[in-house]
Amino acid sequence: MTQSGSLVYSAILAALAKIAAGSRCQCADPGCGHGARCNTIVEGDRWRARYRVPPADGGADSLDNCEVVCTACFERPTQAS
Ligand SMILES: [Zn+2]
Ligand SMILES: [Zn+2]
Repeated sequence: MTQSGSLVYSAILAALAKIAAGSRCQCADPGCGHGARCNTIVEGDRWRARYRVPPADGGADSLDNCEVVCTACFERPTQAS
């Protein structure tokens, strides 16, 4: 089974991650073309919370391991090497 993004399972944890992020996209992928950090304000349905390290790879189910990204960043395919 392959997963491109590992969404946070818990809605509560996702909501806490959004608050911790200041309701801004935390994506730091330079491949998106938004500089060091996206910082797009996320609201409504236009964001996702994902694990930095997927639990399948040993990541913790904790706030420290969550990042909030806007849908544009989340849906952008990661560059294949
Ligand atoms: Zn973004
Ligand atoms: Zn991005």
